[in-house]
Amino acid sequence: MTSDEYRILRETDLRDYLAQLPAIACQLGGAPASWSISEVGDGNLNLVFIVRGGAGSIAVKQALPYVRLVGESWPLPLSRSHYEHLALTHQARLAPGLVPAVLHHDEALALIAMEFLEPHIIMRKGLVGGTTYPRFVDDITTFLARTLFLSSDLAVPAAEKKQGIAAFAGNHALCKITEDLIFTDPYRIVEQNRWTSPWLDTTAARFRGDLDLHVAVSRLKLKFMAAPEALIHGDLHTGSIMVTERETQVIDPEFAFYGPMGFDIGAVIGNLLMGYLASSGHETSPGDRRTFEAWLLETVESVWTEFARKFVELWRTEAKGDGYPPTLFAGANGAARLDAERQAYMAQLFCDTVGFAAAKIIRRILGLAHNIDFELIDDPKRRAICEARSLRLARAMLVDAASFASIGAVTNAAREVRDWDPDFGA
Ligand code: ADP
Ligand code: MG
Repeated sequence: MTSDEYRILRETDLRDYLAQLPAIACQLGGAPASWSISEVGDGNLNLVFIVRGGAGSIAVKQALPYVRLVGESWPLPLSRSHYEHLALTHQARLAPGLVPAVLHHDEALALIAMEFLEPHIIMRKGLVGGTTYPRFVDDITTFLARTLFLSSDLAVPAAEKKQGIAAFAGNHALCKITEDLIFTDPYRIVEQNRWTSPWLDTTAARFRGDLDLHVAVSRLKLKFMAAPEALIHGDLHTGSIMVTERETQVIDPEFAFYGPMGFDIGAVIGNLLMGYLASSGHETSPGDRRTFEAWLLETVESVWTEFARKFVELWRTEAKGDGYPPTLFAGANGAARLDAERQAYMAQLFCDTVGFAAAKIIRRILGLAHNIDFELIDDPKRRAICEARSLRLARAMLVDAASFASIGAVTNAAREVRDWDPDFGA
């Protein structure tokens, strides 16, 4: 059965729909009536069903014509499912084994059936629980280096690169969400903003009047809008990563488009830093998560250093794009000059990454969408202390990104702010 018309699928419709897809029905196994179907979506935007049959299970994601978190008053185009599918299939080619396999796609229903990840959990949940993930650094840096480098002008001929930009250019409604929710709204009065009140009231007001901050975040916003460097995931926080001890899978690329690479790397680093600064809020006795916290900071450092190493290595071996034509660097000293240029490129990318990481932190504390790293700290004052520390770190990273000479400078600043007392009184 193909569907020329969109409708929101309820459990029974989904069962009938899947039963008519031979490959899917076979993968699930047994009689359709015996399949168990449950809606598990915990995201902000879409429906996600887990369908379990006698032989196997699948995940089915359907876009709604509005933002799930807010409701029908906030419409959002179904085409985001088209872009999610396009991104998932691109990423599967560029970084094999690091995204769930697509099993079926229905454009009209805005529906994607994919591999069910089990026993994976959302990384953010694992981090709140204090779990470390030994595979994470290697996997996420492979994902970042390969998806970013291999879709950039360093790897891809100019015509193909521009076709890529065109293929994702229609995803502008999702970009606009980022432009508003991350780069604008936390710095102005907007009804849907919230923060842990009253403790953060003065900081929120200060951020709304801080022109240094407004300049810095506007520069990043412009870069987000006007720098189609590579195919980025666009929402690569720890809630878009599913993990086990042995595996890492990146899900949910519906915000994908050609944008600045630092936005993805910064998303990973910013969210790890929030995990770190929220951690003391989850202590059951003072200091009982110190080992976990040390792992998190090492992870932040390795995410950057391993990413940079893999990216530069790809540049040395897979530079088939039209950027930096080899003939211009063939002469005497050419190789050394090109190598120095690669280092300069990485330094700029690091600076972007630090800024984007900070912007991602601030929006989670002063904007619309919050995260469980902080939200699950029950005592609001204790939560506000962790959030105030994060805002202090993020402001420095955003306004003085260039003063962080290395990732070690970022983790040192995080370590210092970890024990800073925002002085909220008794
Ligand atoms: P949204 O776009 O609404 O944020 P997500 O793609 O993040 O939706 O999915 C929401 C939740 O559904 C995830 O947090 C995860 O728990 C679950 N989920 C999504 N895809 C899969 C999958 N392939 N396997 C297992 N669980 C999944
Ligand atoms: Mg999500």
